[in-house]
Amino acid sequence: MAKYKILQFRNECISCGACAAICPEFWIMDDDGTAILKESVLVDDHYEREINSEDDKARNQEAADACPVQIIKVVANEIKKK
Ligand code: SF4
Repeated sequence: MAKYKILQFRNECISCGACAAICPEFWIMDDDGTAILKESVLVDDHYEREINSEDDKARNQEAADACPVQIIKVVANEIKKK
């Protein structure tokens, strides 16, 4: 099991582009203006992707910290909720 998960509550994205600017290897902007977490899957009310490396965790934490509406979460794998 992967050590961490990235969660994104995409329906609350305000399309600022910060995550894609900071961490383009994980985040891209969709044609509709919202951010997409690459290779993520929809689970209940959010998208998520598992990661293992501390580097990936740190990079995505930077994106999470920059998100003005705080809808990106980097969590231990067993924690699922916002
Ligand atoms: S930083 Fe947050 S609000 Fe801005 S594009 Fe990314 S997910 Fe959306």
